Amino acid sequence: MNTPASQPEPRPLTTSVRYLAGVGPARAQALASLGLTNIGRLVAHLPFRYEHERAESSIAELEPGVMSSVRGEITATRLAGRGRKQRFEAVLMDETGRLDLVWFGQPYLSTTILPGMRIWVQGKAARRGGMLQMPHPLFELLDADEPDERRERLRPIYPASESITSRQIERLIEDILPEAVAQIDDHFEAAYVRERELPPLRAAYHMMHAPDSPQQIAEARRRLAYDELFMLQLAVHLKRRHVHEVLRAPVLETSNELAARIRCRFPYQLTAAQERVVSEITRDLARAIPTSRLVQGDVGSGKTAVAAIAMLIAVANGHQAAIMAPTEILAEQHHAALTELLLGSRVRIGLLTGSLSADNRIALLAQLAAGDIDVLIGTHALLTETVEFASLAVVVIDEQHRFGVHQRAALRTKTQDQHSSPHILVMTATPIPRTVAMTLFGDLDVSIIDELPPGRKPVETRVLRTAQRADADALIAERVALGQQAFVVVPTIEGETAIGVHDVVKRLSQGALTDARIATLHGKLARTDREVIMADFRRGAIDVVVATTVIEVGVDIPGATVMVIEDADRFGLAQLHQLRGRVGRGSQASICLLIADPKTPDAQRRLEAMASLSSGFDLAERDFEIRGPGELIGARQAGDMALKVADLSRDLELLKLASKDAASWVKRSPRLDSPADVILRRRLRHTYGDALGLVDIG
Ligand code: ADP
Ligand code: MG
Repeated sequence: MNTPASQPEPRPLTTSVRYLAGVGPARAQALASLGLTNIGRLVAHLPFRYEHERAESSIAELEPGVMSSVRGEITATRLAGRGRKQRFEAVLMDETGRLDLVWFGQPYLSTTILPGMRIWVQGKAARRGGMLQMPHPLFELLDADEPDERRERLRPIYPASESITSRQIERLIEDILPEAVAQIDDHFEAAYVRERELPPLRAAYHMMHAPDSPQQIAEARRRLAYDELFMLQLAVHLKRRHVHEVLRAPVLETSNELAARIRCRFPYQLTAAQERVVSEITRDLARAIPTSRLVQGDVGSGKTAVAAIAMLIAVANGHQAAIMAPTEILAEQHHAALTELLLGSRVRIGLLTGSLSADNRIALLAQLAAGDIDVLIGTHALLTETVEFASLAVVVIDEQHRFGVHQRAALRTKTQDQHSSPHILVMTATPIPRTVAMTLFGDLDVSIIDELPPGRKPVETRVLRTAQRADADALIAERVALGQQAFVVVPTIEGETAIGVHDVVKRLSQGALTDARIATLHGKLARTDREVIMADFRRGAIDVVVATTVIEVGVDIPGATVMVIEDADRFGLAQLHQLRGRVGRGSQASICLLIADPKTPDAQRRLEAMASLSSGFDLAERDFEIRGPGELIGARQAGDMALKVADLSRDLELLKLASKDAASWVKRSPRLDSPADVILRRRLRHTYGDALGLVDIG
């Protein structure tokens, strides 16, 4: 190891990078743009991969200007020059030749590198007056008994930028590594990490930056990944404790009589899965602990009915309920469906979307605050609005899997008392792998509707090339002739870069479907026009709806049996599955045609997956394989989670361990205020304090 003769005072982790050798204003600027402002940030800047260093060369093989390493014996040394120009020179020989080594301004090396020693050096050689010279090489003294094999080194490759290279960062980190690592305090006790077969934090950082072997990298990663997952789970469990022990929700009782009365309103019997989830929810609602439950159910599994029952329980108990949808079309559909469901009852329903006129909105908000509206339906805009409820008891967030902790925290403020909170249900059709759900929504309980209403037939799915479009048109015509209905979905309204709504309408009405009733549906239509079209489509007065993805989620037209998706390679797997879920909701066999000439292997794999898999769960797993968890989670949340080392698709075992450990930690020290928690608490607040609104561990 490179050991300077005298150990200078270690520089604190907060030392600015500007004080490091070789860092001038420009380099400091370049470092700052990567967030690397001080020594502590530098050690925390981890390599994202490693390269096996080119095997060692013999001296004869050295190429000027190429980074290489050689080993040999020091045959002579000398100190030359004076003052700042002083340099240390050494001659290195191997069986093939001679290399001159030179270091400027490090005279103490003359006591470290001595004639007769065997040494390994690494650097770029240059020709100087016929001699081969290597200025400022990295070096390691070799033990006399070290086997004379040419070694490989694992070179860390760092995230870098246009103005600073990985190599330059590597040099700086090499410089500060020993002194910086020595100052890192472990937030766990030695016994704690030993029990879990994890290395201490200092060792982990050291091994990350300067590994001796791939095993060391794996070991270091495991520790750092564990820490990330533990912090995340700790935040989640603390939050959960806060919700459980500090916040209070209205207690909503469900008598048998009420349960029967609500069920009477539905024109069908609930499936066993729906019943099970309803009973899980009613049990939650009867407690003063605010519910946070994720209801997962594939497209068409009947989540709306479950949501409606929860809302009606709130209303029956004298409180209000709200349901939020991701699109106006879906909010309008919920409004229509609930209005029908509650026909002749005393339940008062309101619809709040961006399309509401200013006057109507003011009136609606006043009714809401006065308690004159029982069930409010709206878009997610509800969250950001100054909407006040008289007594909000149940909130349903429909068709939302990218719904993070922030939004739920915002919801909890919709009640007057800061210690009161509504019960919250999150409905999602995008099946989130359990492990991801646990991480993302760790403070949610999960219910799964794992059964479709009876009589559903899987949607046959076929992939067609664009040249086969006429086949799709013919199929639509055939089905329309039988009195069935079709959706055609296109990526854009105008069709500048892809096929548009109007292109399709023109093609169909001038070709295969001259007599059919065709309508268009997209985000630029006025609310009233949209509502008329949806109502007409539902009652069979329209045969074909050509739409953009405004119909992607939730839209429920049981008579539609054909879904044609144009330019299907432009859509993600979850999106395609959602779109396909718009058909196959009645008892007739449905078909989905994906029209595309896929341009990438991933697009090809997505289309193949759609054709071969029908369950949303299987598709989500496949999606996870193709894209990894990042996309599923959404960039924002991936950021919130601050997972840099841990990889949810790979570190599942570690996640389970971290979650279990975090749970028992919080149980033992619910306010993180024991002396052993000091560092942990500081780091947790640093990472998650604001994001999770951990108000009670201030
Ligand atoms: P999603 O889970 O996708 O939100 P919906 O709630 O929109 O599903 O329900 C899909 C369709 O299934 C609707 O037409 C709904 O009326 C119908 N449905 C829901 N539950 C049942 C059931 N138990 N039996 C028969 N049809 C049902
Ligand atoms: Mg739905």
